[in-house]
Amino acid sequence: MSSVPFGLCAGCAHQRVVGNTRGSSFSLCGLSRTDDRFPRYPRMPVAACPGFRPRDGRPTDAEDARRREDEPHG
Ligand code: SF4
Repeated sequence: MSSVPFGLCAGCAHQRVVGNTRGSSFSLCGLSRTDDRFPRYPRMPVAACPGFRPRDGRPTDAEDARRREDEPHG
């Protein structure tokens, strides 16, 4: 069986991969439990998502930009 192209979700800390008895895998969005904007099973592959958070703890581009704005200048 080929792997499911999860797109952005594959590297997101909110993703949980769940399987069924027939060997298929589905990408579950953990944010769906607390935020209605996110479907429990997003349509794959996800190309862009405002809830994306890298698994390795790196800040997202938006968080990085915010942090730079907060740093003192000069
Ligand atoms: S927050 Fe977005 S990128 Fe992360 S698992 Fe949910 S749908 Fe995928």
